[in-house]
Amino acid sequence: MTPSFLKGLVHCGSCNVLMHQTCSNKKGLQYRYYTCSNHLKYKSCEASQHTFPAEIIEKRVVEEIVRILKSPEVVMSLNRLAERRKDVSKADLMTAIKNLNDVWNFLYQAEQRKIIHMLINKIVIQENGIKIDLNLEDFESLIMQLV
Ligand SMILES: [Zn+2]
Repeated sequence: MTPSFLKGLVHCGSCNVLMHQTCSNKKGLQYRYYTCSNHLKYKSCEASQHTFPAEIIEKRVVEEIVRILKSPEVVMSLNRLAERRKDVSKADLMTAIKNLNDVWNFLYQAEQRKIIHMLINKIVIQENGIKIDLNLEDFESLIMQLV
């Protein structure tokens, strides 16, 4: 089984424990899932669903990154960064973000994976959707690499 694209990031919205990658084979095809680790250990989990198709979650997270890069949180973080650093202007930072947005969908999965692990502290799978908790400190160092 290939290592999970979101290893160590995905949490159960009900128990707040990590969800582990599991898989099943049907008719020679392998299907991957993220499953609540409490549920895997036969402990109780209050969530109505304990297992989610990995591909759907990964696709949603990859799409969500584009929205996050345009979010007020990120713009504020760039403002703070520009205030602290004398060597880089806010315009440079905004250009770096725009460039990342433009190339994001064309990046190899390995590069997307690296950026996702820098940018995200935690992903919580809730009944009404996916909640993403950003790691803004590492995000700043990522952006400085792109300027
Ligand atoms: Zn759970």
